Amino acid sequence: MQSLSEKQKDKIDLSMPVRFLKGVGPARAKTFVQLGVRTAGDLLEYFPRDWRFASEPIKINQMQEGQSVTVVGQVESTDYQSYRKPPIFEAVLADDTGVCRIVWFHGGYLRNQISPGMVIMASGKVTLYKHQLQMTNPKFAVLDEEHLKSGEVFSGGVYPASAGLSSRQIKQIIAPLLDNLDELAPEFYDSGFLKNTNLIGRKDAFSWIHMPPSEEKLAQSKRRLKYDELFLMQAGLALRRYKVQHFSTALPMKCTDEIDSRIRKRFPFLLTEDQDGAIAEIVSDMARCQPMNRLLQGDVGSGKTVVALYAALLAVANKQQVAIMAPTEILAGQHFLSIERYLKGSSVRRILITGGLTGKKRKEVLERISSGKVDIVVGTVALLQKDIEFHRLGLAVIDEQHKFGVHQRLMLRKQATPHCLVMTATPIPRTLAMTAFGDLDVSIIKHSPPGRGEVITRWVDRGDQQKAYEFIRERLKAKKQAYFVYPRIANIEENDVIKAATDEWRNLSQKVFPEVTVGLLHGRMPSAKKQQVMAEFRKGKINVLVATVVVEVGVDVPNATIMVIEEADRFGLAQLHQLRGRIGRGEAKSYCFLFAETDREAAKSRLEIMTRSNDGFEIAEHDLRLRGPGELFSTRQHGLPDLKIANIIDDYELLIMARENAFELVAEDPALTKAEHRNIRQVLLARFGDSLGLADVA
Ligand code: ADP
Ligand code: MG
Repeated sequence: MQSLSEKQKDKIDLSMPVRFLKGVGPARAKTFVQLGVRTAGDLLEYFPRDWRFASEPIKINQMQEGQSVTVVGQVESTDYQSYRKPPIFEAVLADDTGVCRIVWFHGGYLRNQISPGMVIMASGKVTLYKHQLQMTNPKFAVLDEEHLKSGEVFSGGVYPASAGLSSRQIKQIIAPLLDNLDELAPEFYDSGFLKNTNLIGRKDAFSWIHMPPSEEKLAQSKRRLKYDELFLMQAGLALRRYKVQHFSTALPMKCTDEIDSRIRKRFPFLLTEDQDGAIAEIVSDMARCQPMNRLLQGDVGSGKTVVALYAALLAVANKQQVAIMAPTEILAGQHFLSIERYLKGSSVRRILITGGLTGKKRKEVLERISSGKVDIVVGTVALLQKDIEFHRLGLAVIDEQHKFGVHQRLMLRKQATPHCLVMTATPIPRTLAMTAFGDLDVSIIKHSPPGRGEVITRWVDRGDQQKAYEFIRERLKAKKQAYFVYPRIANIEENDVIKAATDEWRNLSQKVFPEVTVGLLHGRMPSAKKQQVMAEFRKGKINVLVATVVVEVGVDVPNATIMVIEEADRFGLAQLHQLRGRIGRGEAKSYCFLFAETDREAAKSRLEIMTRSNDGFEIAEHDLRLRGPGELFSTRQHGLPDLKIANIIDDYELLIMARENAFELVAEDPALTKAEHRNIRQVLLARFGDSLGLADVA
């Protein structure tokens, strides 16, 4: 192993497995894998989590009150005073000129890190305590002989380490890479660009992030590396988009005035300005022979379905078939029903495919679809992807995009190249629209149709629940309907404290609201039963619907004006907002009660935001801040590498700049064949493989 790494040392490349690097044997290679590092390239991007900038050490007898200094000495004694408030860990440090006292408040954890005899370096502010100089809560490092010899500990990066690999060992393994940066981190911009954008060279950036000569240079290197990371991501998106647009053709759809007015006649209302805007964008997309790839974003109830139906009818008018896909059967059923409502008496042939459709009947239906005897097919994503062949699929509408992600979107594309409209009721903050969904065009419906009643949200604790029940009873008497939503279907343990739908359904129907009909809906019920319950609720035969989050999306019953969410602290913000979107659909005032008892700060702030805001975008921004983008939408989940150094919220300005530059680059040189783009192409290939179609163009 040793000889091999010696031999390869002078030609390290980014894809070289770390085990060929000097100082890495099989054991360390394994440890590296656990740290997410497989190749030399990964290692080069394994950035320190912290950086030290200690000043040159001084002697203890030179310490002066008020200065920030670094001293090095041997620990003479330690002491932990747990009885003090706050508890104090204390060390007495000596060099050849004197001794000083160092204290750490709440320093109990240091008992097994610092012990007499060790040589440590401490860096911090000198204070005076009872006429003696001391340091309080300094940064410190335990030094070994090598440290003392080289002196390198006084500044540099601290790596996220693990039991098998210390930060210092990692540093030693990275060091040789930094001697090869000409090959490993080739510049891909010309100096003019770097100057205009105030970015430093790529080589310096990698060198300084690992071994920063100063804080200023560290800041510059971070900026460049963040920029590169965002730029490469955006270039990947731009290339993917280019590929979809130019290597696949779709059927252009004509939209004449006659077609337009014929479609509009189907809606018993005037479309809102936002709906018209979205439709104009969609019509112009669909008129081209490049497939539309558009995300239609709008809060729950803002009227997206109507826009999608417009697109669908446009495709049908152009003799094309349409697939409308929803994440659940309930929602597919709901879509089908509203389509039916709008299409009453129309000659458009439409069909709902459910899991219950089997055997001969199913075969018959599939046959009608593949021979072009059906115009609009509604179903779940699973159903429509399985084995259905279309005669001429011109448009795919995918509802609630965030439930299944980009991969399915692309899978669908393989089978044909229909125009593609993705709808989401989860408002996607701008930063995410540009990253996780960055290869889509976006239309936004901001304002809901007029005539919507106000929605009032209250956070109710246990003590006030009876009052809420009484209030709800009055509304039920006035023939309004209510949802009660629970986080669980049923409790497994007798003594579980979390309320669950099945148990509470019994309680609500027998004890709380015996005078009305209380129905139950959850995901484990057979599909036919679910459809039946929903139908009865829609007709008003069921007054109170007890449910799990299966009612989260799409369900549309304007007479339901009350939503109770039990154990509300257990739901995420986006989910709470989605649930609340089930009410406020008619003209009457609606009420959302969040039943919750919690001390947890995060839960409290979620509930507070809910009572304060009805604006889906505002709530989504809060969610992004509370949870971080990683948890909300993993970029990896969307086929993009996770970001290592950049952050789409904090580095928003860089993101915008990177996006503009990347899209400009791809527009100018889509295959990146120009000589000056060779290095960028190289880096992109290393990062994304050939999925972007770059490899085809040798
Ligand atoms: P979304 O799909 O965004 O949740 P929908 O398209 O289902 O919203 O519309 C929600 C409700 O608003 C439906 O009952 C629909 O009939 C109604 N609606 C949609 N557009 C308008 C409009 N322009 N004017 C009045 N009502 C509308
Ligand atoms: Mg809808």
